[in-house]
Amino acid sequence: EQKLEFICTFSPAFDKLLGGGVPIGKITELCGAAGAGKTQVCMQLCVNVQIPETFGGRNAKAIFIDTEGSFTSNRIIEIVKSTQNLLVDRFNLTNREELIKHNFTVEKVLQNIYYYRCSDHVQLLACFNNVKVLIEKQPSIKLVIIDSLAYPFRFVDFKDSNLLTMKTNILNNMMTIAYQLITKFNLAILITNQMTTRITRDSVSNVSSSNLVPALGETWAHSANLRILLSWRNSKRQACVCKSSYLPDMSCFYKITERGIED
Ligand code: ATP
Ligand code: MG
Repeated sequence: EQKLEFICTFSPAFDKLLGGGVPIGKITELCGAAGAGKTQVCMQLCVNVQIPETFGGRNAKAIFIDTEGSFTSNRIIEIVKSTQNLLVDRFNLTNREELIKHNFTVEKVLQNIYYYRCSDHVQLLACFNNVKVLIEKQPSIKLVIIDSLAYPFRFVDFKDSNLLTMKTNILNNMMTIAYQLITKFNLAILITNQMTTRITRDSVSNVSSSNLVPALGETWAHSANLRILLSWRNSKRQACVCKSSYLPDMSCFYKITERGIED
């Protein structure tokens, strides 16, 4: 068994929960209700994957496939600036010159995030095929994000069996490509997912939080190597391992501040 490499989140508690960070060579699913922090974690990781190796990063590039339109470069800029400050502190640098020398600047970080905007499932599949071609040309890409996978399928009526078959086919297709990518190029795939109401014969009317389950169903649930549930209560944010072949089911607290993800 090969030793895992990680992309850190910058919350030591969250990284510990993940066994070191978001694993390279695996497919990780981040699920949680609206506002849980999924997009924020994704944006932080787009920055962190680019940290120079001398400062404990991967010196790599990221792809961000945005299906909801929630990515903002202003937030990336904010996170890069605070990450620069954090590195200056942590490595006792006298100023940011050392970071600039290693190309860890706002401009470079923005340039090294390949951004795709998709609004429906057809565009998403086409985009994922393009991404495969891009990665073949750019092996320095170590992180591929899809935020979110469920949103482009929101119009698929679960009572229409033709549409359901098409949805299953597209998801299976995408997962086949995803597995090829992680094995061939040793990169991390991070996919966000929404929560939905569990539909059972008699529970449709009785909607409670315990009826909330990750969207996209049972088949998809087996596709990710790692499923992390983000939630928050009384202004405390929690991350919880729901499914993993190598991590215990545990949870931790973390924060989202103007600086990004922290303990
Ligand atoms: P959705 O399912 O709607 O996409 P999400 O899980 O992606 O939701 P995020 O957009 O990641 O949720 O999280 C939004 C939350 O992150 C905000 O409610 C806010 O609490 C926090 N947040 C966002 N930007 C900042 C910031 N600049 N400073 C502090 N907190 C922020
Ligand atoms: Mg989001």
